Amino acid sequence: MRPIISKTLIYLISVCGVACSAEERPNIVVILCDDLGYADVGFNGSTDIQTPELDELAAAGTRFSSAYVSHPFCGPSRMSLLSGRYPHPMGTPYNLAPLSYDFPESSTLGIPESEVLISKVLQQSGYRTGIVGKWHLGFEPQYHPNVRGFDDFYGFLGGGHFYFPEKYKPIYERQKKAGKSPIEEYLLPLEHNGKEVDETEYITDGLSREAVRFVKESAEMEQPFFLYLSYNAPHSPLEAKEEDMEPYRHIKDIKRRKYAGMVAAVDRGVGELVDALREAGVFENTLIVFTSDNGGKTTLGANNAPLKKGKGSVSEGGIRVPMFFHWPKVVPSGQLFEHPVSTLDFYPTFADLARAEIPAGKLLDGVALLDAVKKRESPRRGDMVYAVRHRDGFSEISGRRDSWKAIWDTKGGSWRLYNVDKDMAEKNDLSAQYPERLEELKAGIRRWTATHTQPLWFHSVQEMEGWKENEMPRYDDAFGAN
Ligand code: CA
Repeated sequence: MRPIISKTLIYLISVCGVACSAEERPNIVVILCDDLGYADVGFNGSTDIQTPELDELAAAGTRFSSAYVSHPFCGPSRMSLLSGRYPHPMGTPYNLAPLSYDFPESSTLGIPESEVLISKVLQQSGYRTGIVGKWHLGFEPQYHPNVRGFDDFYGFLGGGHFYFPEKYKPIYERQKKAGKSPIEEYLLPLEHNGKEVDETEYITDGLSREAVRFVKESAEMEQPFFLYLSYNAPHSPLEAKEEDMEPYRHIKDIKRRKYAGMVAAVDRGVGELVDALREAGVFENTLIVFTSDNGGKTTLGANNAPLKKGKGSVSEGGIRVPMFFHWPKVVPSGQLFEHPVSTLDFYPTFADLARAEIPAGKLLDGVALLDAVKKRESPRRGDMVYAVRHRDGFSEISGRRDSWKAIWDTKGGSWRLYNVDKDMAEKNDLSAQYPERLEELKAGIRRWTATHTQPLWFHSVQEMEGWKENEMPRYDDAFGAN
């Protein structure tokens, strides 16, 4: 009897192998760059920076030409990506204060504990979860990645970091010896699950190495994985390896040359990650998402062409980012998806793929994307994507519905209306031709701003005082109600 039973078992296993693979939950890898401009990768139109690894993935997947972030700078955008909520209704429209500002009313706070992050949802559904790189959601223990749903954390808690250990370590050691407190977060040692580590590589290379480690470890385990590879590149300080700048020696602008070198290191890291996924035999069943947390800073070497302005602005250059999805046999290959999508959509999209349970009552501002991407339909027809950025005494505001965008970004100025499908550079103000359309969009934005709450923290004492003195947020200024 034994041989017959074995044959039966082998048959069952082989049948299950086919049937079960169709049901298998995918691994999910999010590669997030920091301040990467719209035109700073080959697949999105860069003519000077070469990104062959990213371009290959983008070409084999679906590229998004109208991908938005919820906020035009780092902290709020990242909090939205992981929480699935706009920053303003959550009270998080400002970056946390850096440790060096000595402003503990802000720097001791973080992403509200009431917000269940996508990392926690995936973890609870059986995923192994990892973050490598920049956190920027809070320094204190209750905000630590390891208690917010990440099994494995390698990186740094602040808003950025210097790149060359041989340069920043001696400064850190000198300041530590001198008893300086707090020491600037860009100098602090990296950590692995709460323990200081001695990182010796150029930071981008170190983060890529750890992403590869996480993939290798995870592939050995019988559970799917979620990796959030949160590069700080090409965010300032502009620090690139000589060999990465060498192919760009023809670029005269030293900032652009360094920036190009920093992007080259990311591209190399993505190549290493893809190799690791292939070698582990999990490449075919991994969704890779690549994007940036906000637009590029043009004064620091970035290029958002043809978009207007950049980081910090609610013009397209601040909030519209390069993005692709890659997943063989599932995400359409070689496609350009032009409908508006948002990094807010990651949460429901990933929860869907993981067949994970979202906690009852969890507020989400995004929509699950994958079916819409496959069908090439808008996932949010008729619904808007918004952006607000508080300035000194007023707030820049914008909202896009389908092809149309309304924007108000100058104190005392007028609302403008653009068809950002045809006019992504926002050159041709159509508010006079379509006043009713503008009023519809303004009404939608106004309803949304009514959901906002007071900021939980400010980036600096001056910002906090300015907010009070100016009786912010003063949304009525934008809508002409006073
Ligand atoms: Ca950023």
